[in-house]
Parts: sequence; C-alpha cells; structure tokens
Amino acid sequence: MWLATDFQQKVIHYYRQHGRKHLPWQGTKDPYRIWLSEIMLQQTQVTTVIPYYENFLQRFPTIIDLAEATSDEVMHLWSGLGYYSRARNLHQAAKMVVEEFNGHFPQNPAEIETLPGVGRSTAGAIAAFAFDEPSAILDGNVKRVLARCYGIDGWAGKSSVLKALWLRAEENTPKKDTAQYNQAMMDLGAVVCTRTKPKCNQCPLSEQCYALQHDQVAQLPGKKPKKTRPKRSVYWLICLENAQVILHKRPPSGIWGGLWCFPEMEQSVEEPIHEQKLDSFIHKFSHYDLEVQPLLVKKLPNTGIMEPNEFNHFALDFLLKKTQQKTAEIGLPTPVSKVLASLDSQSLKT
Ligand code: SF4
Repeated sequence: MWLATDFQQKVIHYYRQHGRKHLPWQGTKDPYRIWLSEIMLQQTQVTTVIPYYENFLQRFPTIIDLAEATSDEVMHLWSGLGYYSRARNLHQAAKMVVEEFNGHFPQNPAEIETLPGVGRSTAGAIAAFAFDEPSAILDGNVKRVLARCYGIDGWAGKSSVLKALWLRAEENTPKKDTAQYNQAMMDLGAVVCTRTKPKCNQCPLSEQCYALQHDQVAQLPGKKPKKTRPKRSVYWLICLENAQVILHKRPPSGIWGGLWCFPEMEQSVEEPIHEQKLDSFIHKFSHYDLEVQPLLVKKLPNTGIMEPNEFNHFALDFLLKKTQQKTAEIGLPTPVSKVLASLDSQSLKT
C-alpha cells in the first residue's frame, strides 16, 4: 500500500529540487495576484500568460483598481488571451470582493469559491498559496498524475471518477507545506507526467506508479467518451420521365421545411426497385448525419415514401438552370442541387 506520507515526501522533495520557483506570481502572498494568475492559467500556457499578467497588474495594481475599471478596459487588456468569460467573471469577482468582503480577499476556500469563475480547485490553490490553508487542488495536471499513480480509470467528467480523484487529492494533501506540495503536483503534471510521452524516468513517483507498473500509462487517465452522432439513412428516389423529375415539397417546419427534395424513404424498409444506384454520400446537419443513397427509379413505389406532402414534375433542364443560377424561384437544398447536377446524359435519356 502506498502511504500518503510517502507520496507527499516524494512530491515535496521533487519541488525542492526541481520545482518552478521563479514565475512572476510566485514568491508573493498577495491573494489578488495569486487569484489573477490562477484564472489566467486556466486553459492557457504559462508563457502566454506572463505578458498579460504583467500588463494587467501594471494597469490594475490592486483588486480595488480592477473593481473600479470599466468592463471595456478589462476586456481590452484581456484581448487575445481567449475564454473571455474569465475576464467578465474576474471583473465581477473584484466588485464582489470590494462590496461584500470590504475589499479583503476571502481566506476560506468555501468563501473563495463563491466568487464568480472560481471553482473548488482554484479556491484550494488560492487558499493554499496565499493563506497557507491545507486545501487540496485538482486541476487537469493533478488529475492526470493521480489517475496514473493510483490507477483511477474512467473520464474525470464522470461524477464517480471525479469523486475518487478528489478523495485521493484530499487524502494526499499534507497539512504542512501545502503550498509547496500543491505547486509540485502542478509542476509534475505540467513538466513530467505530461499527457503524451511522460518522462517516467525522471518521475519521483515511478516506483509505485500504478500506470507505469501495469503498462497503463497511455490508457490513463480515461478519455472523454466520444459521442456517436446519430445517423439517418435514406434513399432518394430519382424518378425521371421525359426529361422531367419528380420532386416533393417538404412540410413547412422541420429540416429543409418548404424546400423541394427528391421523394425520400428510410433505408430500414425494403430497397425499392431501381434502375441504377448513384454515388451515396453523407450530409452533415448540426445534430445528425444524413446518409443518402440516390436511386434512379422508373416509378415511385406506392408505399414507404416519407412525408408525401406535395409532388410536382419539374423539367430537368429547368432545375439544372435553377441550380446553376442559384435563383430563388424554387428552393432546393444544396445536396439536392448537387445530385441534380450529377445526373449524367445517360440519366437524361431515360
Ligand atoms: S511514473 Fe510516469 S505515469 Fe507515473 S506519475 Fe510518473 S510520469 Fe506519470
């Protein structure tokens, strides 16, 4: 069994030997500066953050200066750093500290967490770095180290996995030297136990690391499950008669509402009798994929056509002209125009 004290000692020893100690927000106990750095570092690299951090502090040296600024000014100084909700929350939180905490940054992690844009891990980091509170952190880097060291499988977005990670983070966080320990865990994740190609041979935790010992480094932490996009598979029935094609008008609401399309059948029903299969394709809607198999048919089947709203015969020439001119006389969805344009001379003779 891996004792928490042994884990802590190894981590703190690593910090003393190799930890990053000269970043602009280190060596201060000013909660405003620490908070600012923690917010800027969310989803952003250290090297990108440094100039923004320095400019920000030059313009807003105290939390009161920030609270009194206009939002335009705050957003302007944040421009280029991305994730702009962070800047809006920062400004709101500065006002809240001034109005609700009399300008004194709260010290307790639970109170810090009430500030807009501050989650449990950020609150823990501020409390530990600024006030030496023995509070645990669990940012993305720390999650990775713990998941690998203890073989905590599954995606951290899942509540049971997150709970297991927090439990381990709390158990391992020392009551003393918490700031050093937290900084070391962040550094280990950022520099040694990286997402790809971790430097296990330089890691102080390698001897007991579950992932390394069980050849699971690439598998841990578990990835976010990929959502499979729903797919609908349909036939489009292209019925050509005397160089005319049958289209039907979609009902006014729903996908392609009011546009003219080929009569459509679900592919789950029996394949209709057809003369020729044209190239199938997939059209991507925002929330699903439509797999289309166009079929040249002599006549439309009596059953199975979806939403048989209003049918009409159009001269293929007329439709092709519409397609090329992109006129709005009749509405054609782009995939329908493409299929029409692809009908070769062979089809026109039928
Ligand atoms: S031994 Fe390798 S996988 Fe395990 S914590 Fe260290 S760097 Fe990460």
